[in-house]
Amino acid sequence: MIENRTIPERSIDDNVTDLLMANRDASRSDNKTILLTGGAGFIGSHTAVVLLDRGYDVVLLDNFSNSKRDVPARIEKITDRSCICEEVDLTDEAAVATVFNKYDFDAVIHFAGIKSVGESVEKPLEYYDNNLTGTINLLKAMNASDVKNLIFSSSATVYRQDNPVPYYENYPLGATNPYGWTKVIIERILTDMGAVDHAWRVIMLRYFNPIGAHESGLIGEEPQGIPNNLLPYVAKVAAGDLPEIRIFGDDYDTPDGSGVRDYIHVMDLAEGHLVAMEYLRRMIDRDNKKEITEKDACSVASLTENSSATDEKERRLKDLNVRAFNIGTGKGTSVKEIIAAFERACGKELSKAAYPRRPGDLATVYADTSLAEKELGFKARRGIDEMCIDSWRWQQTAR
Ligand code: NAD
Ligand code: UDP
Repeated sequence: MIENRTIPERSIDDNVTDLLMANRDASRSDNKTILLTGGAGFIGSHTAVVLLDRGYDVVLLDNFSNSKRDVPARIEKITDRSCICEEVDLTDEAAVATVFNKYDFDAVIHFAGIKSVGESVEKPLEYYDNNLTGTINLLKAMNASDVKNLIFSSSATVYRQDNPVPYYENYPLGATNPYGWTKVIIERILTDMGAVDHAWRVIMLRYFNPIGAHESGLIGEEPQGIPNNLLPYVAKVAAGDLPEIRIFGDDYDTPDGSGVRDYIHVMDLAEGHLVAMEYLRRMIDRDNKKEITEKDACSVASLTENSSATDEKERRLKDLNVRAFNIGTGKGTSVKEIIAAFERACGKELSKAAYPRRPGDLATVYADTSLAEKELGFKARRGIDEMCIDSWRWQQTAR
């Protein structure tokens, strides 16, 4: 029970990189209010903690279809800050509009969505309805309230499977399942909106494989039923809830034959949202000062013969006000290496066996992270051992 737990001293600032620190404005958040759709979920709740710690005010909007109602209270326990939550379904257009009439938001982080690849193949309409209708309702309410600053939870799944690794942001997009297509389509919608209305400032963060949990053990990932993803599955085997880890393929063309992914600690990912938010604010400041318009129009026009400066200015602005960034570590870790790290974390050997490859899986997926590092100043710093230690702590305290 959370009432009986001792909450460790919070030390987000102890954990962030020098780079992150250097990118922070001298001022804190100036009491900016951020709406977090899906804010009670895995990534949203950790981001809420980081934003509250940084001095932002947050409002969570969630229908609790994949999260628990006590998450806001747990966030308050960790941060000692108030965490408002509105129980609303994004597919309810009128209810979403009501939330925007109630608060004065400075920006929105849009996490809400359903995310199981396998389930999306079984229930495509449900996925398109929830993820696309929900997003469109959100964007309509944002437009109506003139709140045009958005960070969107995209995914590495938007990259076409025939791209070589590492994945770069300018690679061709495409998907192999309805879940992935919802992300591709939403990215398209946001890009098209940004092209016609430069007041929109959008950052699309393409997450790789988030794992881990907050160090307090109070919030973490809560998959319903038998987990599909590797880490929650391994954690349940360690807890004795499942008999053995299934290694889906040990004959891939990888160093140890098992699949390789780019795992990132959810707190690093949460901090990625903080730096993205501060980047968004710098975009707003620059736009207000018209610095982008002048500088980029001139530099691009001087390089291009066949376009007018105005066309290029428009094109350049479009490029600049809707941006995509990979958020990963840039390092690949195999299934077998993850299992070994989890065994170190829980202090025991875990039962495991090789199984056939899972249909649709790639051998190796990892990010090129240089764009996020260069432009956002973001660099993940927590390693695999810390990810597994925090996952195991959460597994032991999870309800
Ligand atoms: P999550 O399921 O833990 O959180 C999503 C939250 O959205 C849940 O609390 C759920 O109740 C809520 N929600 C869903 N549909 C809603 C609706 N119609 N109205 C209101 N609330 C709704 O998932 P997560 O892991 O925190 O993922 C957050 C976002 O990041 C999702 O969009 C997901 O697709 C994306 N993403 C996740 C991963 C990952 O591995 N976890 C990877 C890439 C991208
Ligand atoms: N995996 C596995 N056993 C499991 C779940 C996943 O071996 O029970 C492997 C999967 O084949 C992939 C990696 O673990 O190589 C990560 O899979 P996950 O579903 O967590 O994330 P994905 O990268 O597929 O989104």
